[in-house]
Amino acid sequence: MDSLAQLFEETLKDVYYAENAILKALPKMVKKTKNPELRQAFEEHTEQTKGQVRRLDEIFKIIGKKASGKECLAIKGLIGETEEIMSDSETPEVLHAGLIGCAQAVEHYEIARYGTLKAWAEQLEMQDAAQLLDETLQEEKQTDEKLTSLAISTVNPDADMGEDSEESEDDESEGVNAASMDEEAEDEGATTSRKKSSRSR
Ligand code: FE
Ligand code: FE
Ligand code: FE
Repeated sequence: MDSLAQLFEETLKDVYYAENAILKALPKMVKKTKNPELRQAFEEHTEQTKGQVRRLDEIFKIIGKKASGKECLAIKGLIGETEEIMSDSETPEVLHAGLIGCAQAVEHYEIARYGTLKAWAEQLEMQDAAQLLDETLQEEKQTDEKLTSLAISTVNPDADMGEDSEESEDDESEGVNAASMDEEAEDEGATTSRKKSSRSR
């Protein structure tokens, strides 16, 4: 690899592989999800992802190459972690919170990739490709934000309900919990960095 154009093509193959892997993983996540809103979010993103694959097909056409994927170890790892959450979560509520966390890790990977690809397309003066990449980038960002608000409004509080049950080993009082989460960072990223909503309590 000795040019930005080659790097662009290789990375395009990386996301092509990733999107197709996500297309296989999402229906399994839909099946496992009992929360109707979360389920709908996953279903909508499945449809969006199909459109994203079509955009990538178009970009391969623009660069005159056959659309193909190249194994993306990152997405394999992230999907592996998702499968772990699906088999290890013992309540639907905890599963839902865990699934959002995993889905957001995937969105952030995609946001990183599409941001880079868009910048490279601009550098290579491929405005049409840059435009297509930006459309997908915006969809990934919106999905990430939607998952954050779902998590904070309902999914995380629901998952937190079982805390007082006898199975809870760590004896966290609410005071301790609140004290450990006082950084109000408006990180657009993972929900785990957000302060727990206190409205539910
Ligand atoms: Fe995607
Ligand atoms: Fe990758
Ligand atoms: Fe996505």
